[in-house]
Amino acid sequence: MSAAAPRSATDPPAATRAQCEALDAADPLAPLRALFALPPGVVYLDGNSLGALPAATPARLADAVERQWGRDLIRSWNTAGWVDLPQRVGAKIARLVGADSDEVIAADATSVNLFKVLSAALRLRADRRVIVSERGNFPTDLYVAQGLADQLGKGHVLRLVEREELPAAIDESAAVVMLTQVDYRTGSRLDMQALTEAAHGAGALALWDLAHSAGAFPVELDAARADFAVGCGYKYLNGGPGAPAFLFVARRHQAAFSQPLSGWMGHAAPFAFETGYRPAEGVARYLCGTPPVLSMIALDAGLDTLLAADAHGGLPALWRKSLQLTTIFAARAQALAERHGLRCVTPMDGERRGSQVSFTLPDGDQAYAVVQALIARGVVGDFRAPDILRFGFAPIYLRHVDAWDAAGQLAAVLDSGEWRRGEFLARAAVT
Ligand SMILES: *Cc1c(COP(=O)(O)O)cnc(C)c1O
Repeated sequence: MSAAAPRSATDPPAATRAQCEALDAADPLAPLRALFALPPGVVYLDGNSLGALPAATPARLADAVERQWGRDLIRSWNTAGWVDLPQRVGAKIARLVGADSDEVIAADATSVNLFKVLSAALRLRADRRVIVSERGNFPTDLYVAQGLADQLGKGHVLRLVEREELPAAIDESAAVVMLTQVDYRTGSRLDMQALTEAAHGAGALALWDLAHSAGAFPVELDAARADFAVGCGYKYLNGGPGAPAFLFVARRHQAAFSQPLSGWMGHAAPFAFETGYRPAEGVARYLCGTPPVLSMIALDAGLDTLLAADAHGGLPALWRKSLQLTTIFAARAQALAERHGLRCVTPMDGERRGSQVSFTLPDGDQAYAVVQALIARGVVGDFRAPDILRFGFAPIYLRHVDAWDAAGQLAAVLDSGEWRRGEFLARAAVT
């Protein structure tokens, strides 16, 4: 059986469960699954929202708490290297996003990092007032941009357009083109290279949100000449709930400005306790306060786990496997459940999607309930308003049989009508 990546959903690499088993038996990435502590009987298709627990993380955290904190106490800032965790963790992330180690730093939440880099980008284009983005961009990105525009009080506007209208919307008035590479609802992927070129051609800067990209497929920030980027630590990087996020600043922009959250950790000499702010050299000036050490250590363990794939072909190999998994899943779910109105909204051209498959059903309440019923069967995906059933594929711990079985379970939930039960219809706070 060929291991080549399939080109479309009509060309899945396996047409039977036995073929999926054969693909798993021949999969050089298969041993990596053991690096995760997965609960038995669960097919976890939500690693794009909260990555699974790496097997090494509990011991790393126990050591950090009991030895580094409990026994060595404050000395650990130096002896355990707590103080430069943002740089060390950032350097590992840099390897996954096509950046140099001194262009990425781990800090804060994605939303906060977006505020910092968007502030810096707008200062670099002080003669312009327009931030171009997509109407369907992840809401926190839009909220942060709105808040910053209001705060600046200089008449900045957010120009929100549909995806197809982006090229026309990027004109000489644009200061920054702020985009999320992979759409969180549909999994559709933007062409980073082409849109960055379009931004630069109009004299604007390109700022990318890599929340659903980093750790999922090879990203080439430097090759695309991206200016700024932000991304998430708890999705494909498996850093744990609320893990620190990261930011990227191309080296050519690092000395130009300091960002407005000018806290002491971004000072040139934090422990000189000077009265005046002097920004640190390089990307360190994008730090603000004290790093969340325990969360950083969990993120570091997640990154070490992901980087262990380097010995098996790294992200390019993981991405090829992702294409196989998502194609098997989409094709089988579609074939079994089309008659229930299930429609795939993820592009089946591999270059145009992330590591995700999303479907819609004719009714949003039904979509929500089907996801809950599926979770009760041990297949964990999620629902995104108004009507999206979303399934993320982390190829580092998923098998081809998981993709096959999950599609079968989805069809079974629809065939049986069990999603109609009241317990599946009541919405929880976090979907
Ligand atoms: C998950 C996600 C975020 C998360 O932002 P936080 O501030 O870290 O909660 C931001 N942007 C996008 C596109 C996301 O998918």
